[in-house]
Amino acid sequence: MAFGYPVMLEVDGRACVVIGGGAVGEGKVRGLLAGGALVTVIDPEPTGGLEDLAELSAVTLVRRAYRPGDLKGAFVAIAATDDGATNAQIFAEAQAERVLLNAVDDSRYCHFAVPSIVRRGDFLLSLSTGGKSPALAKRLRKGLSTQFGDEYGTLVELLAEVREAALAVREVDFEEWAARWEAALEADLINLVREGRYQEVKDRVWQHLNTPRGRSAGHVWIVGAGPGDPGLITVKGREALEQADVVVYDRLVDVSLVAGKEAIYAGKTPGEHGLPQEEINAALVRLARRGRRVVRLKGGDPFVFGRGSEEAEALAAEGIGFTVVPAPTSAIAALAAAGIPVTDRRYSSSVAIVTGHCGGPRPVDWRALAGSVETIVVLMGLSNLEFITRELMAGGISPRVPAAIIENGTRPDQRVIVSDLGGLADASALAGPGSPSLIVVGGVVAMREKLAAQSEVTA
Ligand code: SAH
Repeated sequence: MAFGYPVMLEVDGRACVVIGGGAVGEGKVRGLLAGGALVTVIDPEPTGGLEDLAELSAVTLVRRAYRPGDLKGAFVAIAATDDGATNAQIFAEAQAERVLLNAVDDSRYCHFAVPSIVRRGDFLLSLSTGGKSPALAKRLRKGLSTQFGDEYGTLVELLAEVREAALAVREVDFEEWAARWEAALEADLINLVREGRYQEVKDRVWQHLNTPRGRSAGHVWIVGAGPGDPGLITVKGREALEQADVVVYDRLVDVSLVAGKEAIYAGKTPGEHGLPQEEINAALVRLARRGRRVVRLKGGDPFVFGRGSEEAEALAAEGIGFTVVPAPTSAIAALAAAGIPVTDRRYSSSVAIVTGHCGGPRPVDWRALAGSVETIVVLMGLSNLEFITRELMAGGISPRVPAAIIENGTRPDQRVIVSDLGGLADASALAGPGSPSLIVVGGVVAMREKLAAQSEVTA
């Protein structure tokens, strides 16, 4: 493995030399200055930015090419010259003088690699591909830098404050101390920081550090996993998952989201009922009572069908703390992924999301619906498709209004069956879509012709 032992260098107040003052060299100089280094730059034609820095006495600028002897007294050096022969010469001197050298993009002449970083105060993410794929590192860095904002630096500061105060009065052994810290770092802290509620963060952590682990109360996060594509879960949803002790998940959830977690499958395939709802509710209560951090992971948005609100109610009735984390519902997101906007002022100013499951306590009045809403999205409707289409036509929707079935919306195996209301049942019989599928009826379905070909809405 290249660069097998990662370290961070203390350059504060130490002499560092950068040879090559082009754009790349300037970037390295700025990185060293951020760490407090005393920087000398050697280049006959440095960038304007470096000249400005020299003007401000922030760096020492030597306007000439590299000469042996330039590394004398340096703690670390960076060669940013673009010239293999010069790099080789610099490396030879670095070896002789025992100076740590990094030659940019030239691992033959490196004692150390410089990772891609995301820095937020003392919070530092560092990633490296050992110089093998800078493009991958760059891409990941970009993603991480949006995910980890300044609030992480602030969080570190707040935690440091509490830690110092708590350490002064700490009485428990290390194991208990570590367990309390783990409990303290629940996902919501970062959201509190985002909202500027700093004192609350400190109070909560302080409280955890003074609560024996066995007695700390559990909590349930009822999290929407999004419509299928695991990339469509929210940032808050991911954070809840990361800190969870155990996940109770449904069939519609992409299993990659629970990889590496203690996970309980709650089923919910039509026909195969998995755990009865009462048992799911009871399991959530039981797990939380044991002090565990539980994520209840549900397909789409947790409160769009799927009985998420009943689970929340059961927790509330037992006095268990819970947090609901919303997510895109399949009733909207699967349409978008199929090139069908739920509304478009030219075709539709209203949407209804209804269940096609006709056995529930509040069956849909299809004929009334037909007369009052322009886009109708039916979840769980496939097995009653013929009845539903017939009723909608009886309610006044023309058999020629476009309609579609979306199977596995937003997933790689997404399939869209387009027809009109009159022909939808036959088209479905022919194509044989499976679960999960939804039905959409309305003029907006015609937009798919224009949008689906060009767009890759989910990719
Ligand atoms: N809470 C979920 C819906 C639960 S009801 C949500 O917000 O999406 C389950 C029904 O949702 C399925 O029977 C199906 O009709 C629909 N559904 C869920 N995911 C789907 C997907 N990826 N593609 C098509 N339909 C889906």
